[in-house]
Amino acid sequence: MPAELIEWEKRLLADDGPLRTIAQSVGGPFHVMFPDRIVENISKFKDAFEASGVTGFIYYGKKANKSACVIEACATAGAGVDVASARELSAALRGGIDGSNLMVTGPAKSDELLMLATEKNALIAIDSPSELDRLSELSHRRGADTRARIVLRVLPKDSTSRFGMTDAELDNIWDQLDDAPVRLEGFSFHLSGYEVAPRAELAQTLIDWCLKARVNGHAANLISIGGGFSVKYIAAEYWNSFLEHATPSWFHGGRAPSLDSYYPYYCKAPGPQMLTAILEHNDLGDRLRKNDIRLAIEPGRALLDRAGSTVFRVQGTKTREAHGLPYEILTVDGTSLSLSEQWFDTEYLPDPVLWPESVGTMTPTCIGGASCLESDMLSWRRIPLQRAAVVNDLLVYPNTAGYQMDSNESEFHELPIPPKIILRDSTAGPQFEWTPEIDPRKT
Ligand SMILES: *Cc1c(COP(=O)(O)O)cnc(C)c1O
Repeated sequence: MPAELIEWEKRLLADDGPLRTIAQSVGGPFHVMFPDRIVENISKFKDAFEASGVTGFIYYGKKANKSACVIEACATAGAGVDVASARELSAALRGGIDGSNLMVTGPAKSDELLMLATEKNALIAIDSPSELDRLSELSHRRGADTRARIVLRVLPKDSTSRFGMTDAELDNIWDQLDDAPVRLEGFSFHLSGYEVAPRAELAQTLIDWCLKARVNGHAANLISIGGGFSVKYIAAEYWNSFLEHATPSWFHGGRAPSLDSYYPYYCKAPGPQMLTAILEHNDLGDRLRKNDIRLAIEPGRALLDRAGSTVFRVQGTKTREAHGLPYEILTVDGTSLSLSEQWFDTEYLPDPVLWPESVGTMTPTCIGGASCLESDMLSWRRIPLQRAAVVNDLLVYPNTAGYQMDSNESEFHELPIPPKIILRDSTAGPQFEWTPEIDPRKT
């Protein structure tokens, strides 16, 4: 399942690239981030808005990656940030995002987060009538002179999601709103899955809610359709062939995840193309323009597409046999906590690159982490590496910036958390300049 690599990723893997130097300098597993790519991803979403004539705004779904370099890229490219905790909010402000360009989501937010958001003029997605009550009460108690900017999060019909408000709750909210020190700017949702049609259709319902809100005296002129913009990790041929042929015998110990557990590693219309498809579905874009309603989106993963990789060093090798055929089990110097997909009863499928990239005898290989847990496997699948790995080789897992690298990391076994190395184009030539990112939470 080879990943489709882009220019900077190939340059990182080049023989004269910086991989060996970084690996020797860090002396353990590490992540690389290439923030210029995030700026590029944001500008492609902006182009999609521009082509449609709809006024749009992008909030980066911050939970997808903790790195401060993502926030800086958002500030550079003119995107806002979607946060769900007081610390995420503070990190976004520190990174140069204006408070008014923050969206605050999450259920029943803490008093601290609600007040901080109000103070900084952030847009707050209210998840329930009781949360609206609490926000009002806090504002009154504080004697706040600013009205909190809010959108109301809508629970999709027939959904079992624990987030958002039912139609009945929304129908009854107008009196409560009249007494609340807030400014209702619109409505929001976030759907799981990566489909165009359900998003476009629910967006139509949100426009209806905006029109109802206007009748009730609110200036509602914004809808937010959340995140879930898909990423294309691998080519269609590999993905389709995997879905057709994969069997448990491809996996160490026969431990194959069920087919429906995988992220859809191939998609026809990734990221910005998916936004275009949503805007074109049943003329959603036209209706937004005619009613003077702005469209906000909250992509996390899609803004990080091909913006980072994760590098491990091979620490040990052993040979096993299954179905009469030998295969290798490697142990690397980090854990699967740096590859979060492994912790959701599924597997991260894009192949790691064995580096240096010399070619020998194709060798089926699975990859284990440095911990004492049977379940700590980075790849249960026997990956056909282009040669047998040896100790001190590197394994580069591609495209890990979105949710893979740091959402589950901990200092398990007292192993240090892999540092992030920021790569920037060198002004002097084709090489990169690289610097370890200092985690401001630890200073
Ligand atoms: C997680 C989340 C996002 C980002 O989702 P992606 O799939 O990374 O695009 C956006 N909005 C909300 C409310 C979320 O919970």
